[in-house]
This record gives sequence, C-alpha cells and structure tokens, in this order.
Amino acid sequence: MTRLWSPALISLLLAGPLAQAPPPAPAPPHDYPVKPVPFTAVHISDTFWAPRIEINRTVTIPFAFGKNEETGRVGNFERAAAVLQGHPPEDRKPPGYPFDDTDIYKVLEGASYSLSVQPNPQLSAYLDRMIATIASAQEPDGYLYTARTIDPEHPHKWSGAERWVNEKVDSHELYDLGHLYEAAVAHYQATGERSLLDVALKTANLLTTTFGPGKQSIWPGHEITEMGLAKLYRVTGDERYLALARFMLDQRGPDGTPGAGRTYNQSQIRVVDQTEAVGHAVRAMYLYSGMADVAALTGDQSYLHAIDRIWQNVVGRKIYITGGIGARGEGEAFGDDYELPNATAYNETCAAVGNDFWNHRLFLLHGESRYIDVLERTLYNGLLAGVSLDGKSFFYPNPLESAGQYKRSPWFGVACCPGNITRFLASLAGYVYAQRADSIYVNLFIAGSADIAMASGNKVQLVQATRYPWDGDVRITVRPQTPGPFTLRIRVPGWAGNDAVPSDLYHFMTPVTTPATLSVNGQSVPMTMDQGYAVVTRPWKAGDVVWLHLPMPIRRVAASEDVSADRGRVALQRGPIVFAAEWPDNAGGHVLNLLLPDAEPLRAEFRPTLLNGVEVIAGHALAYSADAAGAITPRKQPFVAIPYYAWANRGPGEMSVWLADRDEAVRPFGSPKYPTAQDPTPK
Ligand SMILES: [Zn+2]
Repeated sequence: MTRLWSPALISLLLAGPLAQAPPPAPAPPHDYPVKPVPFTAVHISDTFWAPRIEINRTVTIPFAFGKNEETGRVGNFERAAAVLQGHPPEDRKPPGYPFDDTDIYKVLEGASYSLSVQPNPQLSAYLDRMIATIASAQEPDGYLYTARTIDPEHPHKWSGAERWVNEKVDSHELYDLGHLYEAAVAHYQATGERSLLDVALKTANLLTTTFGPGKQSIWPGHEITEMGLAKLYRVTGDERYLALARFMLDQRGPDGTPGAGRTYNQSQIRVVDQTEAVGHAVRAMYLYSGMADVAALTGDQSYLHAIDRIWQNVVGRKIYITGGIGARGEGEAFGDDYELPNATAYNETCAAVGNDFWNHRLFLLHGESRYIDVLERTLYNGLLAGVSLDGKSFFYPNPLESAGQYKRSPWFGVACCPGNITRFLASLAGYVYAQRADSIYVNLFIAGSADIAMASGNKVQLVQATRYPWDGDVRITVRPQTPGPFTLRIRVPGWAGNDAVPSDLYHFMTPVTTPATLSVNGQSVPMTMDQGYAVVTRPWKAGDVVWLHLPMPIRRVAASEDVSADRGRVALQRGPIVFAAEWPDNAGGHVLNLLLPDAEPLRAEFRPTLLNGVEVIAGHALAYSADAAGAITPRKQPFVAIPYYAWANRGPGEMSVWLADRDEAVRPFGSPKYPTAQDPTPK
C-alpha cells in the first residue's frame, strides 16, 4: 500500500459539510440513567486540550497509521485477503502478535472521531480504503482474524489449531473483534456510513450463531468484546448482541477449561462475586466497563454490586496519585492492597484509558461526581503522560519516579498504548457534559461549546470559557432556544475541598481555606450541593452567565501510612494537576535527593515557553549529599516542579512525584540509599 501521509497532504484540510450522522436507534428499554452529551455535539476550543487534540489528529493518527503500514499490520490483512482470493502470498508467516489487528481498529476509531469534528476528504478516503482492506480479509462466514486466515494450517502459536480453542488462553480472537466493534460504531456514528459496521455485524452474527445458551460456551481471555457488543446493541437494537455480552460475563469463571480460573484474566471466580481488582489491569478495566454496560442495559443489579465493590478496592487501595493503576510489571497487573511502588510502577497507559472508560460508566450509572474526580485525575496526569508533547512518542509504563531509566518510544512491538491514546483524545469531547431529564451535568472544565437537546424538546447551548487546569475560573454562558426552567449540575471537584481522592488513600496535609463559589449573572448564589454537584435550578434565558470560581492553592498530598513507598514523602497538586520534580529544572540534574520541608513556602508561576506553556511550582528544597567519608549535608537550593504529564519531553533523567518531607525518607546523593537506573527499587 502506498503511503498517503505527506505533510502537505496532512495540512490540506478542505472545508466542507460534516458527514451525515446516522438516524438514532430506538432507545433501549433499560439504559444508563445519565446520558453523555455525545462527542458530535461538543466542540472543544480551549488552549489546553484543543492543541493536543489537533496534534492527535494531524500528527499522532497519521503517524500511527504509518506505523501500522510500516510494521506489516496492514499487510496482514492484505495477505489474509490474498489467501481468501486463492492467491496465497509467498510470505505466510503469522502476524507478530495475534492482536496486531487491533492496532488498526483503534486508530481507525480515533480517526473516525476526528472526522466527526473536522471533515477531511483525504482521511475519509484513506479510511474507506482501509475498511475495504479489512473487509477483504473476512472469511465468508464472518470470521475475521488474520493470525489464522493467513495460514490456517500454521496459525500464530497462541492461536490454537482450531478457531476459538485458545480464546481463554491467549488467541485474542474475541479481543480483536471487540476493538473492531468499538471502531465500527465510532465510524458509523461519525460518518453515517455502514461499511465497517457491516463487517462488524457479520462477525457478531457468526458469534451469536456459534455461542450462547444451548450452543458453545465462550468468554474472551482479554476482555473488551462485552463493551463492543453493548455498542452494537445500542446502534442496531438487536438484542442478540446484548444477550451474548451477558452470556460472556456469566460464563466467565473457573470452568475447568484451559485459561480459566486465573486471576490474570479475572476468571478466578464468577464476575458477580468479585470484590477486588486483580490481574491484568487493562483486561480488568475492560471487564468492569463491560459489566457496567450490561448492568445498565439489562437492569441487572448484580453486576453493579460487584463493580461498586471493586471500585472501592481500587480507589481505596490500588490507585496512584497520578490516577495510574496496575502497579506490577509482572502480568501487567494490579498489586496487593497498598502495593504502590514508585520507580517500578507499571501503570500502563491503556489501563489509564480503561480506568477513565470505567469511571465514566460508573458516573452514568450513579450520577455522582466522585467518579468524574477519578476520571479527571487520571486524564490530566497518568493518561496524558502516555504521549509526548509532540504527539510522536509514547510511554507504555508510567512510573512515578525515574533515575534516568525511562524514556518514551516512538512505537512498541505490542502497540496497544498509542492506539488507545489516539482514540481516547479524539473522543474527549464526549466526556465533558451529560444530561438526565431536565438536568445538564458540567463534568469537565474545558473551553468550548455544546449543543444539548433536552428531554423537554428545548435546545440549550452552553459556552464554557476557562484557562483550566491553570486557573479555576470557569464562565458558562447559557443559551436556551426557548427561555425556561432547567437545572445545571456543575461539578465541584473533590480537590477544591478536602478530598484528594474519594477514599482515605491520599489526603491533603492542610484543609482548604477558600471554598469554591458560584454566581449567576454577577449575583452570588448558594452552593446547593447534591452528589458532588452545585445545583442551580432557575428559569434560564439566553445570555445568562454562571461563574464558578475554584481556588487553586498549591496542595501538599500525603499517602496513607499503609503505602510504604510514600512514607515520609509528599506530593504536590494544584487544581487537577499532579506535579513532579524533573532533572532539567533542578540543580545538578538531581531530584531524588530532595527534601521539601512542609513549612517551605511554594508559589505557582506560569511559564509560557516551557513545555508548551505550563504552570510550575517553585520554591526552595534541601538537597542532601554524602561525601566520600559518608558525612551527609543538606544544601538549600531553588526547587521547581512541573506537571507530571509533561515529564520526559527533554530527554531521560531523574524525576520524582513523591519528595521526602521527613528525614527518614531522605536518600542523599552519593550514599548507598541513592537510587540508580540499574537499581530502580531501593528499599
Ligand atoms: Zn497498552
């Protein structure tokens, strides 16, 4: 396939009408009580996110497509198609991994979201060609899995000799299809075209005729199929897809077959009996998200009870201050309770994306802001750190401390994370607002506009203006088509009060002194709080202005004493942003030997030329060093911390989120306690 992405072509964005959105499917009988305002109805124009989304659209997405071509991932589909057409290629080696197909689906999904806000005929044509290539690799009965089709006699070694037999172990046949479904629905919603959706439905129909009560049993070794089937049900109204998603959840468990009964893939017990986040963190997030979808769409509370308990476990014991999850590299897994090491923190970027999928769904189920608090923490910190400022290199793990051993890579052999970043950032607009009856939820503070169709039939435009996350002033202009009463529910983040997280895992060291305030048309209004939202019900008319003021003092955060890695240490947060000390900003390039006294005054400064413009935290810290004789001396020196998400954009070196604030946690430079790149986990 020829390369399509010359810079000139990328910049050639022809203005034109947006593609026709498809007609809405009939509303399912059960669904999330709160509905997101769809990404197609929200336009982001702010100075923090809009440039990133633009880089995602113009750099990362084309870059990822290019990588998919260069690395043979597109070629896998072409070779499978050639086999099906009776012209087997000379090279019938299976793909590097049986899930390589998903890297195309994920970028296709991200590209589809981007098309819905910015028409691009070249990109549309490219997607059409890519979809035709995918369709050509589909077997006549709907089966789609290049790792087998290229050479059914010699499939990938993880694939098993027959279809599906290794699914619970590692074939990833269903995982591939789950990502196909996510992409197909995004493409259909963004363009109104059925080309990829039809490919997806053909595979889903194969699944529904093969698996289910009275047919074969199956569940995905790597979850996501459940979420994908729920989306197919939403757009088609075909209940077979929802029934199959539910069947897969109910079948999951220790059933005596290969791959079953393991915590690694959350099959140690039945899903409705699970109480703790275990195993591979990305798989877990997709499972819990699928359980939320099926709970919402069937009304079955048993899934909900399970994920509510699991959420308590994650937020109370297994989440990093950056919102990262999945502490262990081994098995890419959740650790034990309070097992939150910093230098070896795995925190896969995909797990951060999955955590936001899951918390968004829990918000839609419960209508409580604490889920958006977790989503926001992950978004601005652990998730955003996964991509470089230039959009061309990525982190797979996202540690909270580096002695210089970590740097971003342009691509990975297992390339899940870049694709997940592209699809998440491209769909961010869908996370800003939500609605329920006559209420509009303002969840994220992102400048731009939204056109919201109310249940009453009224249409309401909201226009947000803000410098968030650097400044906590948010101005919302309300423009109802017809003046009348409705409710705005404006999230007051936990960090604006005394809740670092919705648990006792982390706490602010000093309580907030200036509370959040709210005014309407210049008149102060009481903060009437419900489920974490300031509720304003009144007759609205066009041009009414709501002003939310969230003071953003620098907050020092401490972890529960149960987190041994953070004992005697402090982290810095301002607004939703968690900070890190990094080597270029601190004397001698060392930050791992710093002690930041609790009483040391700190100030926030905006530096427009640093790291594309960031607020930094500055002050003084004590740098500890040991001389040759072992004598340890502190030296007071200027201290600067940058937003964690922006680290590792200036080359590898030292970084730390948690800084010593007590003597026992100090690691003097030159002493045996000082961490090195070769020894990232000093005890
Ligand atoms: Zn990943």
